[in-house]
Amino acid sequence: MVRPTSEMTALVLAAGIGSRLRPITDTIPKAMVALTPTLPLLEHVLRQLTLQGIRRFVINLHHHPDAIRGYFGNGARFGAWIQYSDESDQLLDTAGAVRKAAEHLSDDFLLVYADQLHFYDYAPLIELHRRHKPLATVTLKRSDLPQNGDLAEAGPDARITQWYARPHEHRDFGGGKYLNAGMTVLSRRIVDHIPAGRPVSLDREVIPELVRTGQPVYGLAVETEILDVGTPEKYAYARQWFSARLDAAPRTRKALFLDRDGVILRELTPGHYLTDWSEARPTPGITELVAGARELGYLVLVATNQPQIGRGLLTEAGLQSIHQKLAELVGNNLDAIYHCPHVDEDGCECRKPKHGLLERAAREWQVSPETSFMVGDTFRDVGAASRFGCRSIFLRNEQNDGDLARCQPDHVVNQLGEVLDLLRESTR
Ligand SMILES: [Zn+2]
Repeated sequence: MVRPTSEMTALVLAAGIGSRLRPITDTIPKAMVALTPTLPLLEHVLRQLTLQGIRRFVINLHHHPDAIRGYFGNGARFGAWIQYSDESDQLLDTAGAVRKAAEHLSDDFLLVYADQLHFYDYAPLIELHRRHKPLATVTLKRSDLPQNGDLAEAGPDARITQWYARPHEHRDFGGGKYLNAGMTVLSRRIVDHIPAGRPVSLDREVIPELVRTGQPVYGLAVETEILDVGTPEKYAYARQWFSARLDAAPRTRKALFLDRDGVILRELTPGHYLTDWSEARPTPGITELVAGARELGYLVLVATNQPQIGRGLLTEAGLQSIHQKLAELVGNNLDAIYHCPHVDEDGCECRKPKHGLLERAAREWQVSPETSFMVGDTFRDVGAASRFGCRSIFLRNEQNDGDLARCQPDHVVNQLGEVLDLLRESTR
């Protein structure tokens, strides 16, 4: 799996207030509701896109903007580059959001709703858009009642001939009608069709007008399940559905798991933990290893014990800002960073040498242990790798021979360049 790289931007609409989800949304925007105890919906939305090679995002903000900005930062921790379009003062609706964010968008860009939960493969949609180069290519579905959304009629060439914005009279899909499913590719030229200075709806104003005046708009019918999280009942169902999806998904991806301290960063004095980025020293070869692993089709996932959180020496926010710097150091090429905040006495399942962190990452990213590697510099890393079932690589340094004597790694290396050789051999 070599991931395509794309300069295409995705505009992620995250300004939804989620008023029917109160009290959950009293303190967070709807896009930040948790799918699992450690995974907000918006993070899943971004992951699905980065997995498909789309790594440049503009996120619009309105309700509790700092909850999103504070968590995602500049995107580096998520293998992405994120810019924000602040609508704190005035919500601009879908097309208004496009107009406001226009300068940050690529010539063709994706429009994605942060409150839709799905695992959609965008490639056919992007392909259809690139073939016809219209102003808009929308996704279409029939998995809901016709009256619940905007309806489109498409000809055999996928060009949309009629658009019925809600509210409308239609109660069936006769005449080749479909519902607008949400995910859309737009040409930035569409900005010329969006009035300035007020909220404008794409589905109820701009697209109907384009279709009415004979401008090209295309539609692609999709079968993928798309869930809404807008009410407590739907949100509860969405979490169950998501969990079942993760449990059932075949684990086919290969990953390079990296320990942080002693692998990405040089070990500080034993027992001294990093609480300030200015103390960090990268291990020689780490940038090349991370980029090389990605090129070979590996996910690059960090799994690190951070007991200084459990000891009260560092906050989660402080750790996030260190990890943003860490991710920037390797060119925004880490897919995700998993950490255990506990101390031994907590008896958690995620502190290495237990393998809870690796298992959580594997479940969320569909990672196969058999084709994956873990690089570490202590017996804890080797123990976690062997419990998880992936191959372990022990990185020696001047002070860890004692650790090496306590474990049986599959490989022992003296420098990170040797890790890349092992990955290459394994890929051959
Ligand atoms: Zn833990």
